[in-house]
Amino acid sequence: MEAGAGAGAGTAGTTPGRPRIKPEHRAYRTVDGNVRIGSVIFGIGAEIADPDGWIWTLTETMDGTRTAAQTVAEVHGRHPEITPATVAAAMTELRQAGYVDDAAAPLPAGLGARDPVRHARGVALLRWMDLSPRLSPWYAQLRLRGARVIVLGVGGTGGFAAQLLVASGVGQVHTVDPDVVELSNLNRQLIYRETDIGSPKAEAAVAALRSLNSDVTVTGERREVRGPDELRALLTYGEDRPYDLLVLGADRPAEIRRWANRICLEINLPWVEGGYRGPLVTAGVHVPGDGPCWECLRAGEAERRDLRLGPDQSEDAASPRMPWNPASAVTAALSGSLVAHAALSLLTGVPPMEPGFRYGVNLMSLGDPVLQRHPRRPDCPACGPSRPASAN
Ligand SMILES: [Zn+2]
Repeated sequence: MEAGAGAGAGTAGTTPGRPRIKPEHRAYRTVDGNVRIGSVIFGIGAEIADPDGWIWTLTETMDGTRTAAQTVAEVHGRHPEITPATVAAAMTELRQAGYVDDAAAPLPAGLGARDPVRHARGVALLRWMDLSPRLSPWYAQLRLRGARVIVLGVGGTGGFAAQLLVASGVGQVHTVDPDVVELSNLNRQLIYRETDIGSPKAEAAVAALRSLNSDVTVTGERREVRGPDELRALLTYGEDRPYDLLVLGADRPAEIRRWANRICLEINLPWVEGGYRGPLVTAGVHVPGDGPCWECLRAGEAERRDLRLGPDQSEDAASPRMPWNPASAVTAALSGSLVAHAALSLLTGVPPMEPGFRYGVNLMSLGDPVLQRHPRRPDCPACGPSRPASAN
């Protein structure tokens, strides 16, 4: 286990050795003389008034070639009216806003020599999205290396999610599936190949994932979950909590999400699930004790949709379930990607995500973002006050 490997990675000193405006946040000067920093992505950028021009000098000077003291001296030298204390305070503000990292940050222990090459693009993206005042660009990557994820159901959603997590450098991924690979899987379960037909998915998935990234630990087992007790046993292995996160890609048995919700609440395990109802692809992001649970969301969404059902009609009347679940490589890849993005965000905090919601894409209406948020329900049978005492 590499739990705890992340300790210290994000807090390696409070002063950057070579402070640098993150390359992805490179500043520019507007025609009004203001400084825009943080890129043009909504949610990241900011505009700073700079009538005297010294903020611009500061952002130019913070290019990773100088120490903090040299940076202050350089800006003060070019703008003598600005005191060193003022320059230093501005540097601190830029760092607090998440625009600064340390160009001299070493590769932390816990990551290997191949990681700077393998994850060069991914670390740059994480750095781009990370607005916390961390100095090491390796913080989130190290968190991923220390993370332990179980992927239950390695079909379309789970298979794509598992590949994305392993490619992203999640340190331990355990895959569970009871089925064997069939020809009818290959239109959407791209983790498998024709040569895998007839092989247990758990076996074929492990082989595929290991061949994708041999620097992380991938395990798997062929196992069926037929009830909540079996799910609890799978997720706990006794008293330990062997995983940091559950990725639920299985949609059978029909009650599996409800079981996962109850058990994850019980053992305090964050979880992400995803799937598709025809062209509507969504993923749900759930953290026990933080926001509404899966059942709260489901109840809230049923009220919002107002399906006009009679007292003797179940929700299935409005959205029938078929023995087959219509899906394509596109919907499976989208679903797995939404799930994996949420998983990576929960594991690293980058970008920050307030859990207790569903998000997704409706392929029939691309302009309409799918975002379901509902308040926690005090009367929720799963997370309300009447639920059984938590295991920890
Ligand atoms: Zn609830």
